[in-house]
Amino acid sequence: MQTWVIGNWKQNPATSHEAGALVQGLLAAIDAKSAPIACQLMVAPSSIHLAAVSTQIKGTLLLAAAQDISAHSDSIGAYTGDCSAQQVADAGATWILLGHSERRQYHQESHEALIQKLSCALKQNLGVIFCIGETQAQYDDDQTLDVIDEQLSLIKDLLEQQLEIGNPLSERLLIAYEPVWAIGTGKVPTVAEVSATHQHIKQTLAGFSAELANISVLYGGSVNADNAQDFATDSMIDGALVGGASLKVESFLAIADAFGQNSE
Ligand code: PEP
Repeated sequence: MQTWVIGNWKQNPATSHEAGALVQGLLAAIDAKSAPIACQLMVAPSSIHLAAVSTQIKGTLLLAAAQDISAHSDSIGAYTGDCSAQQVADAGATWILLGHSERRQYHQESHEALIQKLSCALKQNLGVIFCIGETQAQYDDDQTLDVIDEQLSLIKDLLEQQLEIGNPLSERLLIAYEPVWAIGTGKVPTVAEVSATHQHIKQTLAGFSAELANISVLYGGSVNADNAQDFATDSMIDGALVGGASLKVESFLAIADAFGQNSE
């Protein structure tokens, strides 16, 4: 299966100059490699850097994702501060991160708002990296699979709405399993725990629709150059969503190499 390594830059770096230098460093390091990277690489810059980064990576193997879109309209409208799916696509994004725990926590993104964002993204032909995962308290209470089922039910709701969404959902959906307690903390679940959770996610999606039987499921949460290989060798883990370690060329490419070795 194709593997994916996606860098979520969050609200980093501080300047457009630094964002440009990061992309330049990445492209130079990729070019200098003796063998091509075998996984699909993607970066998700902040909205303000998206257009410039997209221009820089045009014609390369790197893809660009946006970190958020408006829930209110996929196109234009009186929604101060929002960027629509059409606008981020026009700026060069082909994918979008949705459901990230930081957006759920700091922006109170609800199930309903996420359905609206998901349908806006799909209407504009963006691929969606849908993030799910339990908090520390939920993990401690053994509620991981219940939380995931609840979060994944959004995909079922979307299918039931039978929206006109153009290309098949199976080609435009990735799931990122990110335990909230592992994000930016240096704490990680065991590979066996992640593997079992991914198996559950894959079975659940296949139960929603046969079309979703082969959706890729990525792991996210404190992935770094040292632990990437352990995750990459598990057949249930189809890639990584990487925060902190995606801001350094060396660590991001080390993670890409680990998953590239396990790409088919
Ligand atoms: C993330 O925010 O999606 C993430 C996985 O962050 P980190 O790699 O820094 O834990």
